Amino acid sequence: MYLIPKSHPRAKSLYIREKLVKGFDGGVVAKEGLMAHGRGEAFDYLLGEKTSKYAQNAIRAAASSLVSAKYPVISVNGNVAALCPREIVKLARIVNAKIEVNLFYTNQKRKETIVKVLKKSGAKEVLGTDSKSSRRILGLDSVRRVVDSNGIYKADVVVVPLEDGDRTIALKKMGKKVITFDLNPLSRTAKTADITIVDNVVRAINRLISECKKSKIRKIPYNNKKNLAGTVLEIKKNLSRRMPHA
Ligand code: ATP
Repeated sequence: MYLIPKSHPRAKSLYIREKLVKGFDGGVVAKEGLMAHGRGEAFDYLLGEKTSKYAQNAIRAAASSLVSAKYPVISVNGNVAALCPREIVKLARIVNAKIEVNLFYTNQKRKETIVKVLKKSGAKEVLGTDSKSSRRILGLDSVRRVVDSNGIYKADVVVVPLEDGDRTIALKKMGKKVITFDLNPLSRTAKTADITIVDNVVRAINRLISECKKSKIRKIPYNNKKNLAGTVLEIKKNLSRRMPHA
């Protein structure tokens, strides 16, 4: 791996980028995943590369939903597997959730490589590769609509980090409660999900794990639209603070 000096002012961001490149070289991340990461990075920059109070609100609401869920499922794609496989396994263990590999464009070889990464990170069971248990979700074209009958298909609450808008809309139409991590507060996924954690999944997932550990089964007041609006204002404030004065 390219050696990034700790003293580099953008070391953390470059380190994350390297994980994606390594994931791409290892057949975990798709080309499109690298581009999606680029979009995420740009928004992270605008957010000041830190967890906002709005992200923390969403994390608390997500924890409360996850600990109260009957059948929670965490969906994993290539980027997530490259960025935080151990944390995904830890979160699944704490809230007793199933893990399903679910890719935007189904690709059996990449799915199996991702399963290996997750198992190496401690997962006992990973759904999403057995064609006998595949089900179709309505409203999507053929390559993007397959889910596992023991996973997302059956779930009441699904965590879909870095998801595409069409699929989020389809999951909502199936009656699922959708939790997402998405650095872009303006994406269709961000606007459609029930709970959008606008933060880098790398930072936010550990916070979500801590919240789940202390969260009780109770509903907490949360409004995703208001929270997203607050996030956009935060970006505006951040930009004004950082704008060079002429
Ligand atoms: P939509 O279809 O929801 O309008 P999109 O076309 O931008 O959005 P994709 O490119 O499929 O969706 O999804 C990638 C999303 O994930 C982007 O919104 C991007 O900002 C976000 N993203 C990328 N990397 C990260 C990360 N590390 N943490 C959180 N979000 C990320």
